[in-house]
Amino acid sequence: MKKKYVISIIAIILLLIGIIILFFWPPKFELKNGENITLKYGQKYKEPGYKVTRFGKDYTKKVKVKSKINKNKLGTYEVIYEVKIAGINFKQIRKVKISDNEKPKITLKGDKKVSICPHAEYKEEGYSATDNYDGDLTKKVKITKKDNIITYFVKDTAGNTTKVKRTIIKEDKTAPVITLKQGSTITLYLNETWKDPGYTAIDNCDSDITNKVETSGNVNTKKLGTYKITYSVTDEAGNVAKIERTVKVVNRPVADGSSIIYLTFDDGPKEGTTNVILDILKEENVKATFFVTNSGPDYLIKRAYDEGHTVGLHTASHNYQTVYSSVDNYYRDLKQVQNRVKRITGYESKIIRFPGGSSNTISKKYSKGIMSVLTKDTVNKGYRYYDWNISSGDAGEVSTASGVYNTVIKYLKKNRSNMILMHDIKPYTRDALRNIIKYGKNNGYTFAKITMSTPMITHGVNN
Ligand code: ZN
Repeated sequence: MKKKYVISIIAIILLLIGIIILFFWPPKFELKNGENITLKYGQKYKEPGYKVTRFGKDYTKKVKVKSKINKNKLGTYEVIYEVKIAGINFKQIRKVKISDNEKPKITLKGDKKVSICPHAEYKEEGYSATDNYDGDLTKKVKITKKDNIITYFVKDTAGNTTKVKRTIIKEDKTAPVITLKQGSTITLYLNETWKDPGYTAIDNCDSDITNKVETSGNVNTKKLGTYKITYSVTDEAGNVAKIERTVKVVNRPVADGSSIIYLTFDDGPKEGTTNVILDILKEENVKATFFVTNSGPDYLIKRAYDEGHTVGLHTASHNYQTVYSSVDNYYRDLKQVQNRVKRITGYESKIIRFPGGSSNTISKKYSKGIMSVLTKDTVNKGYRYYDWNISSGDAGEVSTASGVYNTVIKYLKKNRSNMILMHDIKPYTRDALRNIIKYGKNNGYTFAKITMSTPMITHGVNN
C-alpha cells in the first residue's frame, strides 16, 4: 500500500514534468537559405521565407518578423522571427551581412607606358580612384616608385585593394631637327660671295644643339653650277639628322633698267614686322618705300631712313573720317606725320600716299569732291603722291605668305614700273618678301625706291 502510493506520486510528478516540458517545448523554425545570409553592398534584403511548426501544427502565419537592415551601410544585421504560442514568446534569429567585395578602381591620366627623355624626370600626369562604397578615394592613393615602375595603390573601407602600374621608359628615339635659314635652295649670281645664311638644330631631348652641326660641301661662285651643302647632327642618344641645301650659281639676269619694282609698305611701322622687313631688304640689298603713320616706334622710321629707304607720308591717324572730313583736316593730319618724320630723321618728306589711294570712294561719305581737290592741291603745294598698279591683296583678300607672293608675281610686268602696294604691319607680307625679291632678281627686274623724281603712278579720281 505504501509502495503503491509512492509510485503514484512519482508518476504524477513525472507527468507534471512532462506537461511542463511539453508546454515550454520550442517550435521548429525552418529558415530558407539558412541562418546566415551575405548580401552585396547596395543589394536589397528580400525575405527568403520560413516555416514554424510545433507538434505538427503550423504557426507560420503567426510569426512576426523584425529587421533593421541598411543596405547602404556595411555590417551584420539581425532578422528576428517571433511567435507567441500559449502565451510564451519564442524567437529565432537570422544574421544578414552586408559586405563589399568590389575593388576600388584607379584611373590613370596619360598612358600606362610613358616614354620620356633619358635625363628627364617623370612628371605625374594625374590619376583618380573611385570605389562603389567609399566614392572618391583619390586622396588615399599611395604612390611608390621602384626603378622605372610607378605603383598606385588604394584600399577601400572593406579592405579591398587595387594596384595599377605605370611604366616609365627613358629613351630618345626622335632625331633632331635642322632648320636652314633662308630655305633649302639659294640662288647666287656668278662671282657673288657665298656665305652660309645659318641654321639651327633643335633636339626634343637635348634642346639646342646647333653647335654640334657638321657641314660639308663647297660652293664655287666663280663657276656656274649646282652645289650641295650637307648639314648633319647627332643627338646624345645617337639619332642622326641630315639635311641638304642646294646652292645654284647662275648668270646674273640682264636688267635693262626698264623693268622696275617699287616695293611700297603702308600703315607702319610696326615692331615685329617692319624690323624683319628691314633686315631682309638689307640682306638682299634692295631699297624700298615706307608710307608711315603715327603708329609704331620711332626707331624703325630712323632705321628705314638711315638704311637708305624712302620714308613717305600716309597721314598720321589713317582715320578716313578725320583725314577726309575737310581739306584743312587732311593737311593738319598730314603735317602731324610729316613733323614726326622730320623730328626723327631731319628730313622733310613730301612723298605721299592717300589712305585708300587717290581713287578711294570712302571719302565721299565725309566730304564730296575732296579727292579732286587734294590730288591737285597737294601737287601744287610741292607734294608728289603715289598710288599703285599692283595690289598684293594683303589688306584684305590675301592672308598667307604664299598668297601675297602669288598675287604679286601674277601681276608683275616687264618693261614698266611695277608699284606694289603692301603693308609692313602684316606678318604674311613680311614672310613673303624674301621670295618676292628673289623672284624679281631672278627675272631681270630692278628694285628702286620712290624719290622726288620718280614719275607719279596715279589712279583715276572717283570723288
Ligand atoms: Zn593705308
